[in-house]
Amino acid sequence: MNRMLELEEAQRRILSVIKPLETVETTVIEAAGRVLAEPIESSVNLPPFDNSAMDGYAVIADDLKSASATTPVPLRLIGKVAAGAVFRGEVSRGTCVRLFTGSPIPAGADSVIMQEDTHWEESDPEVVQFLDRVKPWENIRIQGEDVRRGVLIAKVGARLSFGKISLLAGTGREVIRVFRQPIVGLIATGSELCEAGQSLKPGQIYESNRAGLSVVVSMIGAVPKIYPIVEDTPPATEFMLRQSLQECDVVITSGGVSVGEFDYVKSAFQKLGGNLDFWRVAVRPGKPFVFGQLKEKCLFGLPGNPVSAFVTYLLLARPALLRMQGASDLQLRKQPGVLRENMNNRGDRRHFARVVIDELGEVRSAGLQGSHALSSLSVANGLVDVPPRTELHSGETVAAMRWD
Ligand code: AMP
Ligand code: MG
Repeated sequence: MNRMLELEEAQRRILSVIKPLETVETTVIEAAGRVLAEPIESSVNLPPFDNSAMDGYAVIADDLKSASATTPVPLRLIGKVAAGAVFRGEVSRGTCVRLFTGSPIPAGADSVIMQEDTHWEESDPEVVQFLDRVKPWENIRIQGEDVRRGVLIAKVGARLSFGKISLLAGTGREVIRVFRQPIVGLIATGSELCEAGQSLKPGQIYESNRAGLSVVVSMIGAVPKIYPIVEDTPPATEFMLRQSLQECDVVITSGGVSVGEFDYVKSAFQKLGGNLDFWRVAVRPGKPFVFGQLKEKCLFGLPGNPVSAFVTYLLLARPALLRMQGASDLQLRKQPGVLRENMNNRGDRRHFARVVIDELGEVRSAGLQGSHALSSLSVANGLVDVPPRTELHSGETVAAMRWD
């Protein structure tokens, strides 16, 4: 109880007990943001057949060796293939076939010459004049050049975004197996908390953690479920924890996990039969932090201050929610940047400073660094890990940890 833990040790302990949820089937078209639970091999070649990259004519390149604008070469037009059709005949010396982008290349032809390099007149419809040469295989998209049948096109643990979904659809895949998305209950505890839309009574503040956390929970493909504000009493805390643990895979609470007189999350969870670890994780903002397990469900008890709740969510809860979805990439993306001001951490815990990293990679403090400060959180797009008792200087390279 109540040990000071290094961040990595806390992460390791949490991940050591988190397993991916079961897998489910979904259609590719509905799979955006889901994590793949089976390796996928292409069942087709892409393109499936040699086809034209242009509107033009299928020819034998050798026929046009002497073609130029001043010495056009005539070829006999023996047919036309629309995209989706197949030409039954064969291109032989002295002949050509009209094609469109995507039309299969007729047998016998070895290249396509684009329409702009040809001349055709209605008065002589059987003949096309060619005004330029062409190299063998020019303007032909070759069978399998994009994807070969049988190759691995998506791995287990890959998150399906635009590119992967397009590729799966392009190879004709309809249904795939993905991991189930965790349902994440969001609970805010605190008798001082007021719901948006109501007027503040003396001593009250508006509750903001559930709204903010629901954004970052959905951003990684988990499904947030928001519960009403819980006042600081043991029965109210127990009631909401029991209900949310029944309905969700994971429950994230904020507030009520310090050693204060009105902090009931830990005792309520234990009363429900849960096992918990209470840690002071050596990060700022952050400590205290609770990780609990009740059968296959788990609890993340975050500190109440909005910035502390957000940072501990990113560092400790987020990797677990990703692991539950079977994702292979659990860590925040690190973007290198250059500090444009000094950053000083006089404390003895790592400081995860909220920063703004711009498109040039220049990094500046997002503003007021207090753990209650919502204004800086509202403009921040990264965290910089400032080691204890360290001053980072303007001009140094840092890694901004991104949550987007
Ligand atoms: P606690 O962790 O409950 O001791 O709360 C620490 C600080 O965060 C107190 O100033 C609380 O008023 C504030 N706080 C707790 N929960 C929230 C919340 N959901 N939204 C905004 N502020 C909160
Ligand atoms: Mg509180």
